[in-house]
Amino acid sequence: MLPLVALVGRPNVGKSTLFNALTRSRDALVHDQPGVTRDRHYGVCRPEGQRPFMVVDTGGIAGEGEGLAGATTRQARAAAEEADLVLFVVDGREGASALDDEILAWLRKSARPTLLVVNKTDGLDVQAAIGEFARYGIGEVHATSSAHRQGIDTLIDRVLAKL
Ligand code: GDP
Ligand code: MG
Repeated sequence: MLPLVALVGRPNVGKSTLFNALTRSRDALVHDQPGVTRDRHYGVCRPEGQRPFMVVDTGGIAGEGEGLAGATTRQARAAAEEADLVLFVVDGREGASALDDEILAWLRKSARPTLLVVNKTDGLDVQAAIGEFARYGIGEVHATSSAHRQGIDTLIDRVLAKL
């Protein structure tokens, strides 16, 4: 069995875009509308000359609500719980939100090894974008622009170092 890496975060931060960049597929639904990816979605990242690992895209954690949002949140949590490593994906443009804080609190309880991925840093002051999340106290922070495939290869190296 390959090690499993789960992409967790609120809707619209770019999890599916990151999934596609990691797995080099166009399978995951990327959409401007938050919450488009509803089911768990698995793929394999095969970095050249390095160990492959599984990636699971999730529909995003959108709070404890009833109905679809609630079911999607439960799915995302289940995916994170079975993962060897969680990539907590946040939006560098929007900065930290209340929902990010909630997800962080839950991730701390779940005690999964976690790497913080600050996505959408294209055109931003990367250090400032990362600094927004310093209070999260997650030691490993990594900046990406999934849409432009920036920071992906370095991220893969960091992931492999943790698996
Ligand atoms: P998800 O809901 O977390 O899976 O987010 P998606 O992958 O569906 O992306 C949501 C929106 O953000 C889409 O319009 C993407 O094109 C856009 N997006 C994703 N990654 C980036 C990025 O690195 N930079 C920018 N500027 N936009 C991005
Ligand atoms: Mg998605």
